[in-house]
Amino acid sequence: MIRIRADRDACVSAGMCVLTAPGVFEQDDDDGRVVVADPAPATEELRRGAREAVGLCPSRALSLDRIPGGD
Ligand code: SF4
Repeated sequence: MIRIRADRDACVSAGMCVLTAPGVFEQDDDDGRVVVADPAPATEELRRGAREAVGLCPSRALSLDRIPGGD
């Protein structure tokens, strides 16, 4: 299992995460910054998208923690 974290102060509203993993990330309607809609995705498909989004974020605002005991 993974836990996704977002540093909203670092986010520059580029939207790459929302395009890459739309079920996991959303953009705030007011300021465009990231909102983690699903911080612990249950499916491998969503987790794969989340990992890809973390790598693509231009401001390094996203990170992942592994949760011991999960899959
Ligand atoms: S990709 Fe990074 S900078 Fe862009 S909206 Fe997502 S968290 Fe913010």
